[in-house]
Amino acid sequence: MSCFTGILLAQSTKLPLIGISGTHTSGGSTQVNSTYILSVLRAGGVPIILPINNNPEVLKKMVASIDALIMTGGEDIDPLKYYNEEPIPAQGEIDPERDAFDIALINLALERGIPLLGICRGHQLMNVACGGTLYQDIPSQLRSPNLVKHRQQAPSWYGTHTVELDKGSLFAKILGTTTIVTNSFHHQAVKDVAPGFVVTGRSKDGVVETMEMIGNPRVFSVQFHPESATSRGLDDFFHIFTYLVELASGKSF
Ligand code: MN
Repeated sequence: MSCFTGILLAQSTKLPLIGISGTHTSGGSTQVNSTYILSVLRAGGVPIILPINNNPEVLKKMVASIDALIMTGGEDIDPLKYYNEEPIPAQGEIDPERDAFDIALINLALERGIPLLGICRGHQLMNVACGGTLYQDIPSQLRSPNLVKHRQQAPSWYGTHTVELDKGSLFAKILGTTTIVTNSFHHQAVKDVAPGFVVTGRSKDGVVETMEMIGNPRVFSVQFHPESATSRGLDDFFHIFTYLVELASGKSF
């Protein structure tokens, strides 16, 4: 064991630190699904779990310390508190402490201007944090003659429904195609899009599957789970993570 670890630490500082928002376990601990961790590692970033807390100074320090932020999937968002709607019967489980934590992280990340990737709940929360609303439950609220199954019964990494990406969108550029087949584990969806954002990808029933901040290619979100495929070594959505890590390293596009 050498005492001269300072040299090694200095050499390793080039790798960008990617904060990943934590979720509560049933016992009250904070955890992050290893699929997010493995995806960041595979893309060359340093994953760091951000534990749920609501201390403003701690939150500020957390966001000041990271080079990019990933907002992860999970529970439903409190509709009454965050977009002024009474809960419908099909509204799912909510975690008030995590809601407050996640909204604070998003606002701080936007304020600091660091790259921000929202995934599933994270995608929906970014919309709500910026003034948008959600369908509380797709099957009971979305009127479409060709509803798509958004709660797939298939392995988590396996794509089951198509998403059409706008030509010229950030996602079309990152992924090199305008048609993707995504995995899908959600019953809520973006309804009114927040000001400042544009929808760039939809499933066949019109559900918002990707969003980007207008004029800011560092802020983007997906309704699907690119980390499930990426962590398995699949390349379909790998470039979402390499793009985020390159942004976090200071590369501009
Ligand atoms: Mn879907």
